[in-house]
Amino acid sequence: MITIQRSIGDIAAEVKGCTRCALSRGRKLAVPGEGPAPAELMFIGEGPGFHENEQGRPFVGAAGKFLEQLLGSIGLTRQDVYITNVVKCRPPNNRDPMPEEMAACKDYLDEQIALVNPRLIVTLGRFSMARWFQGESISRIHGQPRRFADHWVFPCFHPAAALHQEKFRALIEADFLRIPEIIGQIAPVASQPQPAEPEQLTLF
Ligand code: URA
Ligand code: SF4
Repeated sequence: MITIQRSIGDIAAEVKGCTRCALSRGRKLAVPGEGPAPAELMFIGEGPGFHENEQGRPFVGAAGKFLEQLLGSIGLTRQDVYITNVVKCRPPNNRDPMPEEMAACKDYLDEQIALVNPRLIVTLGRFSMARWFQGESISRIHGQPRRFADHWVFPCFHPAAALHQEKFRALIEADFLRIPEIIGQIAPVASQPQPAEPEQLTLF
């Protein structure tokens, strides 16, 4: 249980100097995340790449350009949403983040989710998806919003994968186009009775 006392900026300040895992040694700049808090929509990617590590900002390279296009397709800009990653420091050569690195970084993401308190969390790729959908395959479950105790989560492909593979690209574009409708359908979780089991929106 987290006691919320800190602001989103306090978390960012701590992340910038964090040495909780070995990724701190190879980074140039940590990438805490950015956007309004609270926000209706929160996007969680994997980890910083080359450009993010240089600039200290999430999704500012090619995948970020595509994410901005996807946001544009539903009438949003990146200033409207909160964007962060599972790990806040770049894994060397963009390798996958390791379990111990994700575990070391988890408290920051937990606090960010609590403070952003989004109506819908969109996971981008399998590492952020795995936090809620353990052992499930993204090809099978992408585009199906599911309710958990505190939030609705909408698993999507990672824009970097989708950018270069036409079949994923069409799928992520179609999934994004449904985000406004999904947000419109879900009432704030606090005002809903809690289901015993994770629930899926069957309307979509
Ligand atoms: N890919 C990610 O997962 N996150 C970023 O911030 C950039 C690229
Ligand atoms: Fe700290 Fe996360 Fe960076 Fe590791 S990846 S050093 S836990 S901010």
